[in-house]
Amino acid sequence: MRLDKLLSNMGFGSRKEVKALLKGQAVKVDGVVTKDVAKHVDPEKQEVMVYGERVHYQEFIYLMMNKPPGVISATEDMYDQTVIDLLDPFHQHFKPFPVGRLDKDTEGFLLITNDGQLSHNLLSPKKHVPKVYYAQIEGEVVEADIEAFAQGVTLEDGYHTKPGKLKILKAGEQSEIELEISEGKFHQVKRMFESVGKTVTYLKRLSMGPLELDENLELGEYRELTTEEVEKLK
Ligand code: URA
Repeated sequence: MRLDKLLSNMGFGSRKEVKALLKGQAVKVDGVVTKDVAKHVDPEKQEVMVYGERVHYQEFIYLMMNKPPGVISATEDMYDQTVIDLLDPFHQHFKPFPVGRLDKDTEGFLLITNDGQLSHNLLSPKKHVPKVYYAQIEGEVVEADIEAFAQGVTLEDGYHTKPGKLKILKAGEQSEIELEISEGKFHQVKRMFESVGKTVTYLKRLSMGPLELDENLELGEYRELTTEEVEKLK
């Protein structure tokens, strides 16, 4: 990879800014100062230093966010703040995108990456990646709903969902539940409850596949996944 591309990808500015950095003798490759923007370097094998600090090249980033309400799961929007707007410039530089969508009012686990292949795999209907949601429901969730969800329910557009595992955490006129589903149809959880005559008043995603939301993350906060977590997703 060209040295200027590598440094620009790693957040050292535009190609023009990187050129100035090189001209200022700030960059060493394998211990030797270089000013050659077009120099080819292998980031896996060669040591690149900027102002004496080793540059650890990474092509992909993997972030776990606790999505806050009021923010949309998109990369850009004319009116609303997006989850990408919540990232710092270093992470934005990798041009990441959310893996799937949570509704504007939904909170919780959102994976953000620039790894298109991983995203494709996680969203593929064939992979049946389970997603677990916590929800507060207006109306009493009963045993019959557990059975109905286990069979799959028919949504208002005629689509019959795959089975969902419903757990009642708190019964009553305002119920609390956990639901595991393996699909990601538009408004799926809300529409599944509508199909049994109930309304979701609060929705939070707790997990996706093998990963659970890190409880140390406040709403709107995010962190990079560890190498082990990334491996689990693949
Ligand atoms: N189901 C919904 O209804 N909304 C979400 O945001 C996610 C799943």
